Amino acid sequence: MDKLTLKAMAKINLGLDVVRRRPDGYHEVRMIMQTVKLYDRLTFEKRKEDALTMEANMKKLPVDGNNLIIRAASLLKEEFGIREGLHIRLDKRIPVAAGMAGGSTDAAAAFVAVNRLFGLGLTKEQLCERAVRIGADVPYCICGGTALSEGIGEKLTPLPSAPDCFVIVAKPHIHVSTKWVYQNLHLDQVKEHPDIDGMVESIRRGELSGVADRLSNVLETVTVPKYPVIAQIKEFLGKRGALGALMSGSGPTVFALFDDERKAQSALEELKKTGLTAQAYLTTLTDTTCVE
Ligand code: ATP
Repeated sequence: MDKLTLKAMAKINLGLDVVRRRPDGYHEVRMIMQTVKLYDRLTFEKRKEDALTMEANMKKLPVDGNNLIIRAASLLKEEFGIREGLHIRLDKRIPVAAGMAGGSTDAAAAFVAVNRLFGLGLTKEQLCERAVRIGADVPYCICGGTALSEGIGEKLTPLPSAPDCFVIVAKPHIHVSTKWVYQNLHLDQVKEHPDIDGMVESIRRGELSGVADRLSNVLETVTVPKYPVIAQIKEFLGKRGALGALMSGSGPTVFALFDDERKAQSALEELKKTGLTAQAYLTTLTDTTCVE
C-alpha cells in the first residue's frame, strides 16, 4: 500500500471537570469525550525521498514541524528508522483552536497511517503509549467513541455509545487560547462541578434526556463572562428546540443536542442568519475515527 486517505473526526465534551492543578502546572481533568462525524480528510502518500512534507487547504496552519501531523509521523519514523518519506495533504474542516481537538485528531490519523503504510504492526495500545507524547488528547483521538478521560486526559475508560442524536456545532468569530482559559480558571471559586458520574450513568442507561440535562463544562466559568457570544449561541439554540447546549473543551465552539433532525436543521439555518457564528454544521455522534 502506497497511499491512504483517512477521516480524522472531531470530538465534543459532554462533560468537562477540572479536579485539581498539579504542582507541575498540568490540570487533572474528568471529561466525557464523544466523537462527532465532523472530520478533516488526510491523504498520506509514500515518497522515495526520505522527508516528511505536507500541504493544507488553510493558509494559517503550519505545514512544518509545528504541525502535529508532522510531529506524530516523525516520532514513529525516527523510532522505527523508516528511510522512506511521506507527503500528507490535509483538508481541514474542523474549526481550528476551537475546543474540538482538531490538531490532536489529525495527529492520531498520522499515527494510524504511518503504522499501516509502513507495516509497523503496532496495536492501538502501543500507538496510544506513543501518542500521549504529542498531546494528552491524542490517545483518545486514536480510539474515538464515548469515553471517560481522566488524569491529564490520557487515562481512558471506554463507555457504551452515547444515545443517538443530532448535533449542531457552532463556532463564533472569536479565538480563545486554551492556555489563557486554564490560567484564568479559579477552582476555589467554582461553586458547582459537573456531575460526571451522573453523566456516565445516563450514558450507560441510554437516556438522552439524562445526558442533555447534565451537560456541563467548568471552563465556561472562564469563557462565558468574557465572551457573551457563547451564552448567546447557547440561548438561541435552546429556544429553537435543543435539549441542551454547551461549550466544548476550552471553547469557543458551542454544540447543541437535538432529538429531531428537522428541528435541528431549521435551528442551524436560523443560527447562520444571525451572524453569531463563523462556522456552523449539523452532524451526529459516531463511534469510529481515523477510518477510510
Ligand atoms: P483542543 O480541543 O485539543 O484544545 P483545539 O481545537 O483547541 O484543540 P487545534 O485546532 O488543535 O486546537 O489547534 C490549536 C493550534 O495548534 C492551532 O492554532 C495551530 O496553529 C496548531 N496546529 C498544529 N497542527 C495542527 C493541525 N493539524 N490542525 C489544527 N491546528 C494545528
